[in-house]
Amino acid sequence: MTQRAVRKGSGATAAGGTARSYQVKAPAPRILVMLGGPGAGKGTQADVLAEQLGLPHVSSGELFRAHIGEGTAFGKEVQRYMDRGALVPDDVTVRMVSDRLSQPDAASGVILDGFPRTVSQAQALDRMLAQRGNRVAGALYIQVDPEELVKRLSGRRVCTGPSQHIYHVMFNAPKVEGICDIDGTPLALRADDEPDTVRSRLTKQLPPMFEVVDYYADRDLLCAIRGDQSIEKVTEELLHAVETACKVP
Ligand SMILES: [Zn+2]
Repeated sequence: MTQRAVRKGSGATAAGGTARSYQVKAPAPRILVMLGGPGAGKGTQADVLAEQLGLPHVSSGELFRAHIGEGTAFGKEVQRYMDRGALVPDDVTVRMVSDRLSQPDAASGVILDGFPRTVSQAQALDRMLAQRGNRVAGALYIQVDPEELVKRLSGRRVCTGPSQHIYHVMFNAPKVEGICDIDGTPLALRADDEPDTVRSRLTKQLPPMFEVVDYYADRDLLCAIRGDQSIEKVTEELLHAVETACKVP
């Protein structure tokens, strides 16, 4: 309510000067966290949700790249760690995300993607949000069986012609198996995309993510969505979860 109801018979008109105006307390920005293994479709879904919900999609990777590209103080700080081959410390990432949350387009909230990546980052995010009088509204988890992720991540085929056209056996298959549609050269599987290579990468990447999933589940903030459905169906379920379960303080 933006103004007090005008009593019947008060004689006030619609534009009346008798109703006082009241300060409306704005709801806290809605902070959503996207979770899912590589290949689960997290980035794609975050983009769709961002558009549907009118919230910016804040990918920590893109945030790093943007700061580095623009040569900001954050960018220079991050670059120093990367030059040494070191991980960017959590407090730097948290400060960068905090700065992003202060941008005008984030006034209604954000969809975080790629952060938090570990439980200690999730805890740091909670502390930072608490200082802002806020908290995570919900964590959206696109759940895909690890072996399905291996299939998705090892499906890439690259043409051996000079243009290196890219295909995917599941999502963008060539008309003739193993042959580039455009230049007719054979398609190859890169060493990085070999199932065993992908599997050993996932063995390192997934456990910290599962811990973050558990962290939000323990706090009753997790919305798990089955990722082995069409993109549209996953979007629909994510939107439903946001509407029903992701409460803003
Ligand atoms: Zn080609």
